Parts: sequence; C-alpha cells; structure tokens
Amino acid sequence: MLSLKYYPFELKFKHPFSIAAGKRTGTKVVYVEVNEGGNTGYGEAALPDYLPETQKTVMNFLVKVRFDKFDVVKDSDGILDYLFSFNPKNYPAIAALDMAVHDLKGKILSKPLHVLWYLNKNNCPKTTFTIGMDSRDIILQKVSEAKDFNLLKVKLGSPSDKMIVEAIREVTDKAICVDINQGWRDKEFALDMIHWLSERGAVFIEQPLPKNNIDDAQWLKEKSPLPIIADEAVQTFDDIEKIKSAYHGINIKLMKCGGLREAMKMILRARELNLKIMIGCMSESSCGVSAAAQLTPLADWADLDGPLLISNDPFQGITYDKGKIILSDLSGTGVKKI
Ligand code: MG
Repeated sequence: MLSLKYYPFELKFKHPFSIAAGKRTGTKVVYVEVNEGGNTGYGEAALPDYLPETQKTVMNFLVKVRFDKFDVVKDSDGILDYLFSFNPKNYPAIAALDMAVHDLKGKILSKPLHVLWYLNKNNCPKTTFTIGMDSRDIILQKVSEAKDFNLLKVKLGSPSDKMIVEAIREVTDKAICVDINQGWRDKEFALDMIHWLSERGAVFIEQPLPKNNIDDAQWLKEKSPLPIIADEAVQTFDDIEKIKSAYHGINIKLMKCGGLREAMKMILRARELNLKIMIGCMSESSCGVSAAAQLTPLADWADLDGPLLISNDPFQGITYDKGKIILSDLSGTGVKKI
C-alpha cells in the first residue's frame, strides 16, 4: 500500500542570486516521500517567491491526496491522472509527487528511469552554469568558480547588461547563453541587443520579452540571428500551441508543467513542431534536478545547475564532469537522501 509523507525545507544559495525579477538568498521547497513495501520515492516542489505557489499551498494540496488505493507499478498513469484531476491544479506539488512516483516505480523495478525509457545516458548534454546579475567583481568571481563549465548562462535584463557581458568577455571566450527573464520591453531594443550579443559569442536568447507579448516575439524570431527560447511563456503542454510559431524552442521545467510525464509529452510535441528543447530547473536541490536530468538525452540543451548554486543540498544524485551531466546508475531518478 502506498503512503505519503512531506515536509518543508529551505535551500540556501552560496551567493545571493539576482535576476530581472529580483534578488534572493534562498528558496523554499517541500520534499515528498512516497513509500511502498519498504521502498521510498523522493520528490521536490521548489517555490521561488515570484511564483504563485508557496509551501502552504503545496502542503494544502498534498493533504488532500489519497494514494492508498493505487499500485505504483501497475498504475502510475492512474495516479498521475488522479493528481491532474484536482482543481485548481498545483503544478509544483504535482511535479513533486510525479517524480516521487517515478522514483519509486524505478526502485521497485530496479532500473534507472533513463533505462526504463530506453535513453542513452551518453547522450546527456552539458549543463549551463548560471551567472546571476551582479556587480562586476562578483561576476568575475563567479566566472572563475565556473572554470569546469564550458557553457555559461548569463542573466540579463537590466541597465547593466553590456557591462556584465563585457566583464565576462575580458576573462573568458566561453560560449554564453543569455536569459533575459522578460526584462527587455521593446522589440527593436531587443533585436539590437541580440545582434550585439551574437557578435560576442552568445548561443541563444531566453525569454527576451514579456511572456504575453506573442506578436512581438514572432517579429523578433523572424529577424533574430540567434535562436530564441520561451521559458516564462511556456508553462504547460497546452502553452506550446500558443507560442509554437513565435519561438525557436522551449525551456521545459518539471515545476512548471507538473512533472516527468508532462515533460515527456512536451518533448514529443516540441519535436513534432521542430522546436529546440531545453530542460531547465528552478533553484532546486539534487532531488528535483536528478529527476529532470533523466530526460536530458532527449534535449538540445540543459540548464540543470541548481545543486551547484546551493550550500545545503539534502540529496545526492546528478554529478557533472567538466559540465557534462552524468546520470547516476541508481534506480529511479537516481537520488539518495544524505
Ligand atoms: Mg529562464
């Protein structure tokens, strides 16, 4: 018989972290544990404070969940259908339960998820390493901390954009991915900036304009010399249809879409539409990030450096070799509670 436990926790950043939406020193999360016959599956709901969901709304959702009638191996789809039948939906809570159910199923079957899904772990991409918005000195310090990573993700969308990129370019010619977090307001300005970034070794641009501005996104996509990836504009599977012609690719995160099953559906639909695929994370520990990493053999890019940015990770799982994602050979999502 399945049983469920959950508890709140606060992840602490190694450095305060700034993006166009504000500055934070940590992230509140809720961990879930789904147990059956001595096996435990682990999941995580990460709740950065710019999202509507909180530890309270997640736990209010979890308290309503009744798992005891399900068999996790025979009926994991039935469990997920049940979780998605709640209204309103709480995507981080559903994501936490989805990853715990997948983890538990893998553990009972003694196989890692990527093996159950016939994916080749050698095809995992490199992850980006995130450099938040900061003063010149801190930016340079973070670039030196990222020495093992060949792909930097730079957070822009403030008046300091050119200063930040020029500071990075003084010390490294590594490729950079750029995430604006909706921070540019004007399409002509955005296009000028994208040309400027393209000349400075940027690989792609993530969410340059506000998410609801689909006409301007379409205009920008047609003129941009670099691929443009939707993040805030694509939360769930249904959002793909709304933006499919306005971006070159999508950033899929378990917290946004409600877990691994939905993320897999999004990957398959994005491939049909010829969209590029990035697998990303919120600020999450190894628990959530190791689950998302199981999908990365299917992705063009991964932005899964969450565990590297926090100082109190309660889990082990994903590791990195010169930035390349290494999936653990443990069953399920590959995580172990420390
Ligand atoms: Mg983003």
